[in-house]
Amino acid sequence: MSAVKKILIVDDEEDITNLTEKFLQLEKYETITCNNGYDALDIVEEKHDDIALILLDIMLPGMNGYEILTEIKARYPKILVVLFSVKNFFEDIQKGKELGADGYLVKAISGNEIIAYVKNILKKKNN
Ligand SMILES: [Mg+2]
Repeated sequence: MSAVKKILIVDDEEDITNLTEKFLQLEKYETITCNNGYDALDIVEEKHDDIALILLDIMLPGMNGYEILTEIKARYPKILVVLFSVKNFFEDIQKGKELGADGYLVKAISGNEIIAYVKNILKKKNN
């Protein structure tokens, strides 16, 4: 088992996964990307011991982010799941919390903000 835990990025927009992955890799995070919920669940099933954090889009084809979140938290509650969305409404954030999300990150932010957020939430988990 590798010592470095990975971050799984789930988003149907390739620009978003590519950019987010690039930013995180610059900070030496290991990343995995996929663009739908079915693949995300397969990856989590296979690599759950290696995944520390999932950045999860809400609006996805097939299963939406809330459904994926529910599935993941039922099986692997220790994996941090942060909803990652352009939607910035109280109801969405609240719904995410109720379903067990560990955070909510609005997409209209810079790479530096993503890095700062990821560092902070992983640090909290390790304390
Ligand atoms: Mg989307």
